[in-house]
Amino acid sequence: MDSVHQARGLLIDMDGVLWRGRTFLPGVQNFFAALRSRNVPFLLVTNNATASPDSAVERLAGAGVAIEPHEVLTSALATAAYLQSVLPQGASVYAIGEEAVRSALQDAGFQLQDGHDSAQAVVVGFDREISWYKMTQAALAIQAGALFVGTNPDVSFPIEGGQAPGNGAFVLAIEAATSAKPVIVGKPEPLLFQQAVERLGLKPEQTLMLGDRLETDILGAQRAGIASALLLTGVTSIEQIDGSGIEPDFIFEDLNALTAALQAGLN
Ligand SMILES: [Mg+2]
Repeated sequence: MDSVHQARGLLIDMDGVLWRGRTFLPGVQNFFAALRSRNVPFLLVTNNATASPDSAVERLAGAGVAIEPHEVLTSALATAAYLQSVLPQGASVYAIGEEAVRSALQDAGFQLQDGHDSAQAVVVGFDREISWYKMTQAALAIQAGALFVGTNPDVSFPIEGGQAPGNGAFVLAIEAATSAKPVIVGKPEPLLFQQAVERLGLKPEQTLMLGDRLETDILGAQRAGIASALLLTGVTSIEQIDGSGIEPDFIFEDLNALTAALQAGLN
């Protein structure tokens, strides 16, 4: 891809691209207006397994941007879709995770188990009520042969006062206890990207990933054969690119600069 206006579809990270904390980043409305007017399909993609498509829809509505729930792909939904591709219909699953993970699995037809017995897969997603009991059920099921799947590998996330343990920390704990290797669905692993591209009905080389984080958004896109654009409105600064070994195809100051480049294709 020589220029962003050649992209037939976009995958869009949210935090650090569309908003930061509670604040929308400049140019959100014009960016989506440009995508709509050019009929460029997109998916908002997130590693956050507690997020629901409706929450992203509502949030963007607050900026006057209308999107549909099917234009959001969370790691919870991608995990359920992945399991559909590898397990028999209606298989038993033991899940650690909050409502979004549980409903994604149930909507995909899986039987959620209360304990480790007969589980064909273990899903580990972020859960603010994680416990020794839940981790033990997961570990026992995995040792009995259940497939071990993590929604996303993020080991920590910022809260007031510092970093809190993220889902990746739970996955690592269970990995350490069982010596089993998990399948990780979220960025930077390729599964979420592959599903997103498939949902858009495109090929990886026709698709552009927009993100603010080198080691997830940009590295993951590269691994999946997808072009990437780094936006400097989030966690990565221009100085961090050198020496990272990760090379975004395009770099933009902000959404306004990206939108201008998308529009340049019209001239
Ligand atoms: Mg981000």
